[in-house]
Amino acid sequence: MSEIEKEIVDSAEVKESKNFIEQIIEKDLAEGVYDTVHTRFPPEPNGYLHIGHAKSILLNYGLSQKYNGKFNLRFDDTNPTKEKAEFVESIKADVKWLGADWEDRLFFASNYFDQMYEAAVKLIKKGKAYVSDLSAEQIREYRGSLTEPGKEDPGSTRSVEENLTLFEDMKAGKYEDGTKVLRARIDMASPNINMRDPVIYRVAHMSHQNTGDKWCIYPMYDFAHPIEDAIEGVTHSICTLEFEDHRPLYDWVVRELEYPHPPKQIEFAKLYLTNVVTGKRYIKKLVEQGIVDGWDDPRLVSIAALRRRGFTPESIKKFVELCGISKAQSSADYAMLEYCIREDLKAKAPRMMAILDPVKLVIDNYPEGQTEMLPVVNNPENEALGSREVPFGKELYIEREDFMEEPPKKYFRMFPGNEVRLMSAYFVKCTGCVKDENGKVVEVHCTYDPESRGGNSPDGRKVKGTIHWVSAEQSVKAQVRLYENIIDEEKGVYNEDGSLNLNPNSLTTLTECRLEPAFAQAQAYDRFQFVRQGFFCVDYKDTKPGELVFNRIVSLKSSYVLPK
Ligand code: ATP
Ligand code: MG
Repeated sequence: MSEIEKEIVDSAEVKESKNFIEQIIEKDLAEGVYDTVHTRFPPEPNGYLHIGHAKSILLNYGLSQKYNGKFNLRFDDTNPTKEKAEFVESIKADVKWLGADWEDRLFFASNYFDQMYEAAVKLIKKGKAYVSDLSAEQIREYRGSLTEPGKEDPGSTRSVEENLTLFEDMKAGKYEDGTKVLRARIDMASPNINMRDPVIYRVAHMSHQNTGDKWCIYPMYDFAHPIEDAIEGVTHSICTLEFEDHRPLYDWVVRELEYPHPPKQIEFAKLYLTNVVTGKRYIKKLVEQGIVDGWDDPRLVSIAALRRRGFTPESIKKFVELCGISKAQSSADYAMLEYCIREDLKAKAPRMMAILDPVKLVIDNYPEGQTEMLPVVNNPENEALGSREVPFGKELYIEREDFMEEPPKKYFRMFPGNEVRLMSAYFVKCTGCVKDENGKVVEVHCTYDPESRGGNSPDGRKVKGTIHWVSAEQSVKAQVRLYENIIDEEKGVYNEDGSLNLNPNSLTTLTECRLEPAFAQAQAYDRFQFVRQGFFCVDYKDTKPGELVFNRIVSLKSSYVLPK
């Protein structure tokens, strides 16, 4: 076992111990607080999901599986302004791809608007909510600060009857946007500002993509979310840390509405990647300014982009597991994600030969017009993948960087007088090169040893270099894209003016690549190891019949060491 594999095993053992959410759940089950585990993933359909959401999806789904419970996919579509049907479809595709199966448990929060309205009426009747005439600005003023208590809202003295009438009138469309709100009556002196009579309903004359013009009042997130959870029978409502201060309000809502099995909110730290932007606002800008090719540009870390680039759901799962679940905010290294995809693909993906920057190699003593088929194993680490035959002939392509006329020390590839192995083929000895009028090498020449077929030494003599190749005549042309981080990692994420520090080299497009003929059968999303180069995936968007386009998922090299 290699060092890095040992570390993986070690860290997997560490992960055997339960994370803090599992501890809470097991305590709840043991004490009979709940007799089942029911989680949900509640995206707002206002953008594409990213790697951070993947953590939330896999966490919630994973817990439902581990405890034999249920998992809901619920669109939190209570805000009519920003949401789009396009995002609903992309989110469903992403959640499904990650393997989180919601079965028939697909819900939309907007389907609960009637129940939310009834819940607000219930609070009014209990004297726990009142209609306010204050403007948004006045509400802010009255709220006080961390050092000062808030002031009572003049509306708070209204009678239950008056509040019921006013709220009904709000619903009936008698008031303009911003002129009336419904507030929960909690405590204007609370040290937690979220508890100072929060707004729970606002007037907004907007159509909603699901409910149309039925409503002109809409519930606020802090009021709506616990109700959604309670209606669906969710037990553990898992969210990120920024909602920690909102938990007392969550608890207040489910208590005052007297749900028999109130759900419980648990917060964990968001997943961040070092030098990677996940925020919708910024990605939207990159998309709109045409800096990237849509929300699934392979340089982004939206789930759609990771899928397009060639990441597997398994690699993302592994990554999320390695990150762990905690309450402490931290940032994971992108290199760890790369490590996970290399580990996943190294035995799964066939290893084939592709020349990214070709230069012709001519074997002067190979018979003119002859070709032969050479057997090559598809993956030395996985016998099950079998082998294939690769055509070999007098004219081949090799990587331009595998030849040097005047090599530096320790260069073991092609240079005049040196013998190397053509992978799985023959020993060849370089004899020289041909250059064009600008001094650019256009052909490398060599002779081969017919006794070394298969790349085996005929007499015990050794070569230090093995290079890959494809037949010049029987190869397929392809476009290959190499990626670097879209953010300039040296300089950090932002410039002083708040704009993003973009890396001008984040995309390199190679258009003259030559691949083994077996690649001609490749389909969208097929993944390969290009020998000595890295892992590559067929781009689903730009590949056309006879025009293959590959995205580099990750190179082979890594200096990454797993954190202890
Ligand atoms: P963003 O603004 O980053 O796109 P968001 O929080 O606005 O994300 P929502 O649709 O509201 O996106 O989030 C759906 C769920 O995903 C929420 O439960 C949220 O807590 C969780 N989530 C969002 N970002 C992350 C993250 N970086 N790591 C883990 N969970 C996250
Ligand atoms: Mg949000």
